[in-house]
Amino acid sequence: MNFNIAIDGPAGSGKSTIANLLANKYDLMYINTGAMYRAVTLFAKENNIRPEDTEKLSKLINDLQMHFEKEKLIVNGEYVNDRITMPEISNSVSDYAKVQVVRELLVKAQKKLGKEYNVIMDGRDIGTNVLTDAKYKFFLTANPEERAKRRYLELTSKGIEVNYEDILNDIIKRDLIDSTREISPLKKADDAIEIDTSKLNIDDVVNYICEYIE
Ligand code: C5P
Repeated sequence: MNFNIAIDGPAGSGKSTIANLLANKYDLMYINTGAMYRAVTLFAKENNIRPEDTEKLSKLINDLQMHFEKEKLIVNGEYVNDRITMPEISNSVSDYAKVQVVRELLVKAQKKLGKEYNVIMDGRDIGTNVLTDAKYKFFLTANPEERAKRRYLELTSKGIEVNYEDILNDIIKRDLIDSTREISPLKKADDAIEIDTSKLNIDDVVNYICEYIE
């Protein structure tokens, strides 16, 4: 069986930064599943496809060739990281991510990657649904204000103009949609280790996880 690590948690809990560092340390392929849902949202919006247009969504996803180069997501040959992190995508992604056909197609691709490679995968349903046999599972949390602060600093450092209150509201709204949706909601797997990162810095969390693994 592959050496796979699953990291779940709500928006801004530190998943992607931590997964990226662990991927380098343990030589794992990093799969940011949130980026995959964001890419579907980006291209659906560009093509005026709404979450309820399930047939069109299914065709769209089948036409999207996605792969990762380190933390970068490439879709049909284009680097999309900058475009998928924009606030207008964050605002709508949870509405697309709760659609059955979207989840079925993306989860199928994610499971395949987990079978073929040693991966570290982050998201909302990795430990509970995608990599249920992962060797290690972690569930990161932090209070909403701290998570909003991190997102605010991340976006403003890239020169994107945002308002802290808007980010906090978006995070609270997404937490609600993601954790109450019918299909594979955001939830800690029974066998996942929970880490509250509110008062920890990145190095603290990485060291904690490495000590646990080693
Ligand atoms: O991790 P990130 O905040 O980029 O995820 C964006 C959105 O994608 C989440 O708010 C959620 O709606 C969706 N998502 C999901 N399942 C995953 C990963 C992300 O539903 N495994």
